[in-house]
Amino acid sequence: MDFALTDEQRRIQDAIRDFGEREVKPYAAAWDRDEAFPREVVARLGALGFLGLGLPPDVGGRGADALACALVVEGVARYDASLGLTVASHAGLASGHINQFASDAMRRRYLPRLARGEWLGAWCLTEPGSGSDAAGLCTRAVRDADGWLLTGTKMFITQGSVGHVYVVLASTAPELGQRGISAFVVERDTPGLRSGRKIEKLGLRASDTAEVILDNVRVPPGQLIGEENRGYKQALRILDGGRISIAAWCHGIGRGALEESIAYVRERRRCPSPALRGMESTLAEMAMRLEAGRVLLCRAAHLKDAGRPFRAAASMAKLVCSEATMWATTRAVQFQGGASAGRDQPVERYLRDAKLGEIGEGTSEMQRRVIARALLSGGLPTL
Ligand SMILES: Cc1cc2nc3c(=O)[nH]c(=O)nc-3n(C[C@H](O)[C@H](O)[C@H](O)COP(=O)(O)OP(=O)(O)OC[C@H]3O[C@@H](n4cnc5c(N)ncnc54)[C@H](O)[C@@H]3O)c2cc1C
Repeated sequence: MDFALTDEQRRIQDAIRDFGEREVKPYAAAWDRDEAFPREVVARLGALGFLGLGLPPDVGGRGADALACALVVEGVARYDASLGLTVASHAGLASGHINQFASDAMRRRYLPRLARGEWLGAWCLTEPGSGSDAAGLCTRAVRDADGWLLTGTKMFITQGSVGHVYVVLASTAPELGQRGISAFVVERDTPGLRSGRKIEKLGLRASDTAEVILDNVRVPPGQLIGEENRGYKQALRILDGGRISIAAWCHGIGRGALEESIAYVRERRRCPSPALRGMESTLAEMAMRLEAGRVLLCRAAHLKDAGRPFRAAASMAKLVCSEATMWATTRAVQFQGGASAGRDQPVERYLRDAKLGEIGEGTSEMQRRVIARALLSGGLPTL
C-alpha cells in the first residue's frame, strides 16, 4: 500500500498551490464580499489546462486520473471554495457527463472548448420540487418530428447564469419514473432557455448559483446524450465521481481552516495562557479528522481509477470529509473568539462555505442511505 503521490500528481498539486497563492488568495475575500464571479481567473485555469485535466487527450484534456483531478479541486478550494465549486461542477459534472456518455460528435463539439475554459458547463438535475428525490423531477422533454421540446425549471444550478453549455436531465417517459429520464445538451443561446433568479447564499457567494428556466426549448435529436431513458443512471454515475470531487473540495476548505488555526496558535504561544493546551488538543483533532477523510477520498479515487465499484466509497469519503470540515471550520472560528467574526477573517468565510459540503451532490442523510444500501446488499468493498 503506497500512500505517496506520483510525480505527476505532485507536480499538479504544486502547480495549483502556486496558482492559488498568486491568483486566488489575494482576491478571494473581495469576490466573496462583492458576490463577484471571477471569470478571468476561471479562463486562466482553463488556459493552464486545469479545467480539462481529466478529459482524454483527443478532446483537449490530459487524461489525468481521479486523484489528480481531486487535487486540483482541493487546491483551488483551499483558497476559494466558490472557485473550487466552479471547477468541480464544470469539469466533473458537465464536462464529465458529456465525456462519459455523449456521442463522439458531441464530445468533439463541446469538450475542447470546455477543457480550455472558453465555454463553461452547468449540470442541471435539481428542481424546485426535487433535490434528494432527484427522480421526482418534472422537467419534460417531448419528442416531435424535429427533435425534442424541453420545458421545466431547474434550481440551484452552479454556473446557472454564466454557463454556455447546459446538461439537462428531463423526463422523456413519465410513466416509467426514474427509468424514463434522459439527458440533453442545451446551448446557452437556444431560444427559450434563460436564467431565472440568482440565489443569494450563506456561503459560496462568488459562485454563480441560479435557476435555469426552459420554456419550450427546441433541441435537435443529436442533443440527446447517449440512449433515451438512460439519463438517471448516467446522472448517478456522474454523482459517484462528483462525490470524490466534493470530498476533495471539503478537504481543501478544512485544510485552510487548519492552517489558519496553526498560525493562530503559534502566535498565541508568544504569550502563554491556560487556553493554549485546549487549543493544541483541538488542533490535533482537526488534523486527525481531516486526514481520515482524505484517506477515504484517496481510496475512492483509487477504486475509480482501477475500474472497481466505488459508489459507497465515494459516499463515505464525501460524508467524512464534509463533516470533518464542518467541525474544523467551526473550531477554527471558536479559537479566534470575537476576532473571527470580522468579514476580513478567512475562517468565517470557510465556515459559511463548508456547509454546502453537507448538502450539495447528495446530503449527508443521502450518503448514509447509499452506504447502508451497499452494506445490506453485501456490496461494500473493504481493504
Ligand atoms: C450552492 C449550491 C450549488 C448547487 N449546485 C447544483 C448544480 O450545479 N446542479 C444541480 O443539479 N444541483 C445543485 N445543487 C442542488 C443540491 O444538489 C441540492 O440542494 C441537494 O441535492 C439537496 O436537495 P434539496 O435542496 O432539494 O433538499 P431536500 O431534498 O429537500 O432535503 C431537505 C432535507 O431533508 C433530508 N431528506 C430528504 N430526503 C430524505 C430521505 N429520503 N431520508 C432522509 N433525509 C432526507 C435531506 O437530507 C435534507 O436534510 C446545489 C445546491 C447548492 C446549495
